[in-house]
Amino acid sequence: MRPRAKVVRNGHRPAAPVSWGHHGGGWIEAVVGSMFSGKTQELIRRLRLAAIARQKVQVFNSALDVRYAKDHIVSHDLSKTPSIAVARARDILSRVEPDAQVIGVDEVQFFDDEIVSVCERLADEGRRVIVAGLDQDFRGEPFPVTCRLMGVAEFVTKNLAICSICGNPANRSRRLSPGKKVIDVGAADKYEARCRRCFKKG
Ligand SMILES: [Zn+2]
Repeated sequence: MRPRAKVVRNGHRPAAPVSWGHHGGGWIEAVVGSMFSGKTQELIRRLRLAAIARQKVQVFNSALDVRYAKDHIVSHDLSKTPSIAVARARDILSRVEPDAQVIGVDEVQFFDDEIVSVCERLADEGRRVIVAGLDQDFRGEPFPVTCRLMGVAEFVTKNLAICSICGNPANRSRRLSPGKKVIDVGAADKYEARCRRCFKKG
């Protein structure tokens, strides 16, 4: 038997349902890409739309991301939204409010491996989970945590930046300063978006 299409009766829904419909709802959206591809901007946009719909939103970031104020996530265009900085992925579970419907996680590549099961658990509970993060490190190697989240997510959005050398679509982040650390927190002064070809040229 074909499942019946869900009927949305505007005006007859509570303002802030804990989950969507009778089937529990819950899913993961991954917004990934290189530096300067607008990932955090896109995350903030989705969270704001949810807040306009009076859904309860909570945002988390890693305590490792110290570029800006710790109690906010901030995109390069300086739009910002309050967030809770946590040291470990599992800390999200103890800080999440029981009635939070939409959970945002920024710079997800900074988290430990457990972030994958944490996001799955939140989605299984009927919440909408939106993660944003880098898909590749400065060497052009995929970030395992981001890739695993892309694998389990219902929706994946891959953003591209613009190559700062040739203007083509760019999906890599070239580090301008020397150093071998895979995670090096920084922004415009340390990184540049590069296309595949210009990334190889160094
Ligand atoms: Zn290029």
